Amino acid sequence: MEYKNLVIKASTCSGCKSWLDVCNGDCCKVFKVKTSMIRRARNKTVRVATLLNADLQYYYQLRGCRTTRTEIIIPITLFSITTEGEYTYFHKPCSKLDHNNLCLLHGSDAKPKVCQQFDPLKEEDLSNSRWFIVKSCVANYRKGGKFYKKEYLENNGEKNEINEIKE
Ligand code: SF4
Ligand code: SF4
Repeated sequence: MEYKNLVIKASTCSGCKSWLDVCNGDCCKVFKVKTSMIRRARNKTVRVATLLNADLQYYYQLRGCRTTRTEIIIPITLFSITTEGEYTYFHKPCSKLDHNNLCLLHGSDAKPKVCQQFDPLKEEDLSNSRWFIVKSCVANYRKGGKFYKKEYLENNGEKNEINEIKE
């Protein structure tokens, strides 16, 4: 879908479910950590020093990691890994994401609270946060979003040099 149409679609989007055909639930397929917080460990794992409450531990366990109250222990052979800026990204779908990119825990108390509370339409400032907005997310195509360009709509037809997602 062209950027122009993504912006129009995003302006009336009511939430994740109506954007899934664009994003394919990408936010549930990757998490990031600050590269400087990673240290190598035995048995093909890396450890990330960070404070985790019970809900966050549960979240990272669903994502395929082991945890303690102070560490995420990541079995690196299970993930594909990329880096960008000061962050490292670990790619693998959450164990609770089904083949239609829907969360199997949606609507139940078993869904991690961090997942229940995240709302891509909130326009939160996530800089310096463990969370981030994936490129395909609706949040990027709404006013205030990273890739949103008001002038793009005004000058409809202008070449867009930012992120264009093709379906
Ligand atoms: S628990 Fe559900 S919402 Fe949370 S990361 Fe996994 S699939 Fe996504
Ligand atoms: S938060 Fe963004 S990327 Fe994740 S399911 Fe919702 S619209 Fe898609």
